[in-house]
Amino acid sequence: MDISVVGTGYVGLVSGVCLADKGHRVICVDLDEAKVAQINAGQSPIHEDGLDALLQANIGSRLTATTDLADAVSKSTLTIIAVGTPFDGSAIDTSYIEAAAKAIGTLLRDKESFHTVVVKSTVVPSTTDEVVLPILEQASGKRAGHDFGVSMNPEFLREGSAIGDFMEPDRIVYGGTDEQTFTVLNELYSVFANVDKIRTTNKTAEMIKYTANSLLATLISFSNEMGNLCAGLGGIDVVDVMKGVHLDKRLSPVLENGERVVPAITTFIEAGCGFGGSCFPKDVKALISHGQKAGHEMNILQSVIDLNHAQPLQLLSLLGKHFDSLQGLKIAVLGLAFKPGTDDMRESPAIPIVRALHKEGAEISAYDPVATDEARKEFPDVPIQYAASMSAAVQGADAIVLITTWDEFASLPDIINNMEPAPLLIDGRRMIDKNSVPRYEGIGLSLS
Ligand code: NAD
Repeated sequence: MDISVVGTGYVGLVSGVCLADKGHRVICVDLDEAKVAQINAGQSPIHEDGLDALLQANIGSRLTATTDLADAVSKSTLTIIAVGTPFDGSAIDTSYIEAAAKAIGTLLRDKESFHTVVVKSTVVPSTTDEVVLPILEQASGKRAGHDFGVSMNPEFLREGSAIGDFMEPDRIVYGGTDEQTFTVLNELYSVFANVDKIRTTNKTAEMIKYTANSLLATLISFSNEMGNLCAGLGGIDVVDVMKGVHLDKRLSPVLENGERVVPAITTFIEAGCGFGGSCFPKDVKALISHGQKAGHEMNILQSVIDLNHAQPLQLLSLLGKHFDSLQGLKIAVLGLAFKPGTDDMRESPAIPIVRALHKEGAEISAYDPVATDEARKEFPDVPIQYAASMSAAVQGADAIVLITTWDEFASLPDIINNMEPAPLLIDGRRMIDKNSVPRYEGIGLSLS
């Protein structure tokens, strides 16, 4: 199939590259000329494992990038919209998606063949049918469901494992205005054999995405609340508690051969310093706001967000157990990205932690394997010594604050145990064995 993808961010670029690799012909479109040039040169503008290789394997043959939307729409039968939908504090900002819909609609005016517009951006229920569709109709002067089709097709990929998630999805969900649109979507995804597909309404497709993200965010905040309670009560380690919880066979089933399956969902039932990223915080806040406007209180999700907002600062409380003041102390921050495998710092717990450390007068050194450039943009006003390695970052530190579970941090005890005096380790993810270093504090262990 000939496909155009509008927006070459995490979702648009990964979708475009993967669909090309699956055999479709794909034209990626972005307003950002620099990104387009980079993609055409075979370099991904974002860090994502395996993306550069897949991009290089397809660019110039089944994949191209351009700023010319008109050319892309005329050469394709289907256009995927994958632009940002940030939360503006009261609702999702649909201005990017509206602008894209208007531009595509205008081009459909002169297009004779049936064209399908697919909304892949995350949008609250009704946005596709009540915002995007009318703009397309107005700009094109044509009728949706008749002259062109509109589908909502949420994306579930995770940054850090985006290629694997896209290539082997848990499920593919799509809504549609009419039978022809469903036929087009069936063809688009026919290259994903043996994947469960849900064909539904656009509104339900939108809600599936929010419900899935809200469930995962809720599990995290729930686990963090249990961790904070364990720490507050004293004498209970949340790591031991969660081990006991995970052994529920409904969470980790035992196969007939006696082997226990440990599903990935259990990683959401562990205490830490909070969730971040471009999706969970934004999507949960947007759903709360959307629900409240429709007269629903959304009490659980509001608590999920409130707890998550406060959670990173638990690490400051743990520092406070050992130091009366942080003024002039050298604190090494390990991990800046909101999770391993990505350079994305959007809503990373590292942001409030670094800002609080700076406010308290600490001297900050920081190390992240890939997010240093993003951190420089995030903290133009904070004097941070960015280190080239974990061991360089922790040299001479009074305390180390571990925020992101990069695999390489597993060797931290070896480094700490060769330091004299040994720094205090504050483990924001309970990644390191508490008995492996001389001075250890962690989420869900003890607050006093
Ligand atoms: P992003 O901000 O990384 O990328 C958006 C891109 O769209 C940018 O490159 C921007 O230049 C481009 N753009 C904006 N308006 C345009 C226009 N009119 N024409 C062409 N290009 C345009 O966004 P993202 O993280 O890829 O997210 C996109 C959507 O997918 C959002 O709704 C998000 O919630 C959703 N989503 C994101 C993830 C994720 O992990 N990042 C996962 C699932 C769903």
